[in-house]
Amino acid sequence: MKRILITGAAGFLGSHLCDRFIKENFHVIAMDNLITGDLKNIEHLFKLENFEFYHHDVTKFVSVPGKLDYILHFASPASPIDYLKIPIQTLKVGALGTHNLLGLAKVKRARILIASTSEIYGDPLVHPQTEEYYGNVNTIGPRGVYDEAKRFQESITMAYHRFHGIETRIVRIFNTYGPRMRLNDGRVIPAFMGQALRGEDLTVFGDGSQTRSFCYVDDEIDGIYRLLMSDYVYPVNIGNPHEITISEFAEEIIKLTGTKQKVIYKDLPQDDPMQRQPDISKAKEILGWEPKVGREEGMKKTYEYFQTLSKEELEKTDHRDFSERNKK
Ligand code: UDP
Repeated sequence: MKRILITGAAGFLGSHLCDRFIKENFHVIAMDNLITGDLKNIEHLFKLENFEFYHHDVTKFVSVPGKLDYILHFASPASPIDYLKIPIQTLKVGALGTHNLLGLAKVKRARILIASTSEIYGDPLVHPQTEEYYGNVNTIGPRGVYDEAKRFQESITMAYHRFHGIETRIVRIFNTYGPRMRLNDGRVIPAFMGQALRGEDLTVFGDGSQTRSFCYVDDEIDGIYRLLMSDYVYPVNIGNPHEITISEFAEEIIKLTGTKQKVIYKDLPQDDPMQRQPDISKAKEILGWEPKVGREEGMKKTYEYFQTLSKEELEKTDHRDFSERNKK
C-alpha cells in the first residue's frame, strides 16, 4: 500500500484530499495543527485502519515513522480574513513549514506536491493568467504575508528539485468552493450563503465589478491528483476559467437561496484583485484535465452543505467586521 502524508488535512482541501486518497487505496497520514482546520472534516475517517492523524504544527521539525511515497503540503491559512488575524503563522507555514517538508521528502525519497495559489499573481495585469506570468504583488500589503510566503514556497521547492534532485510538483490553485468550506473564513461563498441563511443582506465589497472564477472542489481535487501522478515539475494552474463579477454572483446566490434580502455595498479591501481567471491550457494538455462541474450544480451542493449547519454554527461568524478592519 502506498503511503501519503497530507498536511492541512483537517482543512477544506486537505480533508477532500484525504477522502480521495483513501478511495484510491492509499495509507493516509493526516497532519494538522487545527488553527484553521476542524477535526469534524475528517472524523469519518478515524475508524479506518489505513488512516492516522497527527496533531502537529509543520513549522516545527516534522517526523513520520516508516516509508513515505508522497507528501501533499496543504497546511496554510487560505483566506484574507485569516492572513489578517494570523499573519506570522501564515508566513511561517509557507516558508519554514515547506522547508521542513522538503527535508522530509529528501530523507524519505518521497515525491512532494506543494499547494501554491493564484495569489502569487497578485492583482494581475495580464488576463487570463498563464503560468508564465510573474505577477503583480504588493509585498507589504495585508495579503503580502500569504502571497510572498507562497512565492518563496515555489522558489524553495524548485531549489530542492534542482539542487537535491527530489521529485516536486507545484499546483497553483484558483478560487475553489464546496462542502466543508469554513463558514466564518470571510470568503465570498460562505459569506453570502451564511448571510442568506441568517436572513441578512448580502455584502458586496467595492462596486462588485471585480471578477473571480470558481472551481468546484471535486474538479480541483481531480486536477491535483493528476498533477501528482504526472511527471511535470513546473507550476500548473488548476481552476475553473468560467469568470463572473461579484455583483452578478450575489444575484445568483439570491436566486439559488430564495432569500428576500438585498445586496448592500461595503468598502473594497486593500489589494483585492480586480480580475482573476486561470488559463488552463497546460492542465488540459499535460494532465488531460478540465473542470466538469458547472457553477449551478456546484453551488447547489455547497448550499446543501451549509443548510446542514446548526443555528449555533451559523451564528458563530466574525466576517461581519471584515470590511471595517481591512479598510484602505
Ligand atoms: N467579497 C464580497 N463580500 C464578502 C466577501 C468577499 O464582495 O462578504 C469579495 C471580495 O472582496 C473579493 C471576492 O469577493 O473581491 C472574492 O473574495 P474571497 O475572499 O472569496 O477570495 P479572494 O479575494 O482571495 O479571491
